[in-house]
Amino acid sequence: MGPARRVGIMGGTFDPIHLGHLVTAEQARADLGLDEVVFMPAGSPWQKTRTVTPPGHRYLMTVLATAANPAFSVSRLELDADGPTYTVETLRTVRKALPDDALYFITGADAILNILTWKDADECLELAAFVAATRPGHDLGGRDAQRPRERVPVLDVPARAIRSTAGRDRIAAGRAVSYLIPREVEEYVRKHGLYGTPARPPAAGALT
Ligand code: NAP
Repeated sequence: MGPARRVGIMGGTFDPIHLGHLVTAEQARADLGLDEVVFMPAGSPWQKTRTVTPPGHRYLMTVLATAANPAFSVSRLELDADGPTYTVETLRTVRKALPDDALYFITGADAILNILTWKDADECLELAAFVAATRPGHDLGGRDAQRPRERVPVLDVPARAIRSTAGRDRIAAGRAVSYLIPREVEEYVRKHGLYGTPARPPAAGALT
């Protein structure tokens, strides 16, 4: 049996994935000495009030964005599960598959502030080390008191100034998203008419 590995799990809705997520994952990999980072798009994020883009699109955009990095991969675990997405169930499955590895669950600090409302929060914190990624100038304000500090360190990501909301709004307004969203993902969005873009008709004579 080889030495225990350090595995990062990037939890998020990735709607759409953007360069800020990639910078966060790469910084976590370097800072925490991770052997790999597995992106885990949420299947049905039950605490969201807005409509989320269908799982198949979010999965493919995440694959396109991460394909070039040998340390990155994408899991369909949450996407293929029925019902609402609970991180505790994901971590139980990953822990069973990788019993000897050190697991790190990385996600946005805003999401982690609510961790105490998550299903089986204590078990979550036992199954993996949690890491809360912040953006520059991001003020958690008084809400930071809600973070179980000793158990969830903050990873400051200076280059993570981007938000999925801003990406969606810019795309819908027909504005440029170069340097915010990977080019492959932008092309995928336009091809499939996501986020309010007009879908591109297939080229004349295409066998699709
Ligand atoms: P969210 O509320 O959409 O995101 C909150 C903030 O965190 C946003 O600023 C978001 O930026 C940022 N963020 C999200 N994922 C990130 C990542 N991997 N790296 C850096 N920043 C990130 O959060 P969410 O996407 O719904 O949920 C985040 C994770 O928490 C998911 O894995 C979800 O399944 C889990 N969660 C679990 C439960 C539960 O088990 N009960 C409840 C809630 C959330 P962007 O919008 O730019 O991504």
